[in-house]
Amino acid sequence: MKDCIFCKIARGELPSKKVYEDDHVLAFEDLQPVAPVHVLIVPKTHYPDLLTMSSQAEGRRHLDKLYQALPAIAQALGLEDKGFRLINNCGEDAGQTVMHVHFHLIGGLPLDPKIL
Ligand code: 5GP
Ligand code: ZN
Repeated sequence: MKDCIFCKIARGELPSKKVYEDDHVLAFEDLQPVAPVHVLIVPKTHYPDLLTMSSQAEGRRHLDKLYQALPAIAQALGLEDKGFRLINNCGEDAGQTVMHVHFHLIGGLPLDPKIL
C-alpha cells in the first residue's frame, strides 16, 4: 500500500534496523522500544490488522509464513532459550496505531506475567 509506513519499510523506502528478512516476512527494531529487545514482525504483504489477515485464505498462508520465521527471529535475537512475549494489537480498543498488521516481540528481561 502506497502510504503505509510499514509497507515503505518492507520495500526499503524508509530505513529500519532489520533483524530478519525473507521473501514474506520482515522483523525490525521498534522505534520506541519498551524493553531491551522490542522488535516488530510484519508480513511484507499489506493487511490492515490481524482480523482482516485471518479472514482471508492468503492472509492465513502469510500468517503461517510469519510463524515459520519465528525460530530464526528468536535465534537472531539470542532469545531462543530465555523466551519472549509476542503481542498483537488489533484495532482501536487494543490501541493499534499503525494499520499494517504487526506483532511486537518483546524480551531481554523477565516480564511481569500479569502486565503487558
Ligand atoms: P501499535 O500500537 O500499532 O501496536 O504499534 C505500533 C508500533 O510501531 C509502536 O511501538 C511504534 O513505536 C512503532 N513505530 C511507529 N512508527 C515506526 C517507524 O517508522 N519505525 C519503526 N521502527 N517503528 C515504528
Ligand atoms: Zn502496509
